Amino acid sequence: MRLDAITFDIDDTLWDNVPVMQHLESEMVRWLEREIGQPLQIEKAEMQQRRMQLGAELMSTPRRGDVTYVREQVTWQVLKEHGLSESAADQLARRATEKMLELRHLVTPYPEVDALLAELAPHYRLAVITNGNVDVNQLPLARHFDVIFKAGELGMPKPDHGIFLHTLQALGDIAPEHAMHVGDSWTSDVEPAAALGMQAVWIDLFNEPRPLTERIHRIEHVRDLPQVLHSLGCA
Ligand SMILES: [Mg+2]
Repeated sequence: MRLDAITFDIDDTLWDNVPVMQHLESEMVRWLEREIGQPLQIEKAEMQQRRMQLGAELMSTPRRGDVTYVREQVTWQVLKEHGLSESAADQLARRATEKMLELRHLVTPYPEVDALLAELAPHYRLAVITNGNVDVNQLPLARHFDVIFKAGELGMPKPDHGIFLHTLQALGDIAPEHAMHVGDSWTSDVEPAAALGMQAVWIDLFNEPRPLTERIHRIEHVRDLPQVLHSLGCA
């Protein structure tokens, strides 16, 4: 088949994101406690709960999907609850975001990823579509990609079809049937891509039972992507 472009999710697709987030969460608590000089009176799970709730509330606003904003707002609330003034909470929440983004970028791509992308880049237009807040432009991997989008910051978090179409257009007006998306999330990556008529490569991390169709290709690791391309008669 004719394939012109491949778009990639990044977290849990190009690297294992679990240790990144675990390290980030515990470092952020430590950092905030050091800054305010007292233990945080809130559990990590409660903060996460509040982020999920605020994220849900923002779904009908222009901040839809902006996970960095959500995190900063919840940090701000927590700081206020610890007695900081509004402006002190503002300032510290902003600095916390800088610290958080620094920790967020401590990702280690799987060892096969760089060579894989280098092999694909001469044959396909390549893009990143992430709902997270890692800026791939800051990573050495950036050189392989033609287009890099943080869907949340564009107000079109996956599974919004808009971000897929926006990306294909930015890659040079590529028709969905000539494109493939690779990602680990059934609902955010696989379903929307397949619904649009793209080939969808699902990185199935948890061996989930899901209805595969002829456009959906299941693998367990991104290193197996060349086998899918081969089976479709692509390079
Ligand atoms: Mg992912």
